[in-house]
Amino acid sequence: MKIGFIGLGNMGAPMAKNLAQAGHAITGFDVNFDQAKACQDSLVVAGTAADAATGQDVVITMLPNGAALYQVAREIVPVMAPSSCFIDCSTVDIQTTKQVAEMIEAAGLRGLDAPVSGGVGGATAGTLTFMVGGAADTLALVMPLFDIMGGRVIHCGDAGAGQAAKICNNMILGATMIATCEAFALADQLGLDRQRLFDVVSTSSGSSWSMNSYCPAPDIGPQSPADHAYRPGFSTAMMVKDLALAQDAASMTETNTRIGKLALQIYQQFASQPEHAEQDFSAILNDIKNTPHKP
Ligand code: NAD
Repeated sequence: MKIGFIGLGNMGAPMAKNLAQAGHAITGFDVNFDQAKACQDSLVVAGTAADAATGQDVVITMLPNGAALYQVAREIVPVMAPSSCFIDCSTVDIQTTKQVAEMIEAAGLRGLDAPVSGGVGGATAGTLTFMVGGAADTLALVMPLFDIMGGRVIHCGDAGAGQAAKICNNMILGATMIATCEAFALADQLGLDRQRLFDVVSTSSGSSWSMNSYCPAPDIGPQSPADHAYRPGFSTAMMVKDLALAQDAASMTETNTRIGKLALQIYQQFASQPEHAEQDFSAILNDIKNTPHKP
């Protein structure tokens, strides 16, 4: 296929490279020209987003936020080929996703929201999980592209459902990581060995992905960012972004999400120091241990 790829950052660059390696013809664009230039072995670098999108079968965006997505969508939707497909893989707010979906539909194009989980490692290895919102026949058309970039594709429903799934998943992740870290902090104070806590919880009703697969305590469980001084990983800044998106969605829908709200406040406070913002979010363990008890 002829593919336009817009947003060649930490995630977009390896995703575009995997598509190129599989034989697709990629034209890429990034506002940061150096990002695009670093990919020039795999793709043709365009001078504008509109140039990257013109005449393509599919355009994929991998952008930092809803404002960037909206700006790019306004620029490219009018120039995209009739019945071509716009796939947004960024994590953005539900409202922008729906506005962009309406723009795409009004122009007679096909569209999907397809945010990912799996991080930079998954993007590089081509093992991302895609959570997809939009029409089933559109998904079927572009499934071969998802198969190259990812290991798992879940069709979540109509436009916006992919973003909804991503936001709900990361709200659980943020909260369970805090609960897991609080349990380690309490175990330390009670004189309970961390390895023993892991052995019990990971095979009991307190188990979760945060404990079993991504343990925040160093040298325990499978390899995780905790074993590498919390770098690289899923940055606390990104967790703050996703929890804030969840709270936007909760306010919009008047949903009671008290733990999600508190989790956002806890990570926001931790991320207020720049060196913490770039650490993996499981580094919150040290902060929890150092925060004085309040009766
Ligand atoms: P990034 O900041 O590395 O990349 C975003 C790229 O978009 C940058 O190169 C930036 O220059 C470019 N950009 C910004 N505005 C633009 C515009 N108007 N036109 C063209 N290019 C523009 O971010 P990333 O880590 O690649 O993340 C991308 C998206 O994927 C985000 O929405 C993020 O939440 C989501 N995500 C990231 C991870 C992760 O682990 N990094 C995991 C899952 C989801």
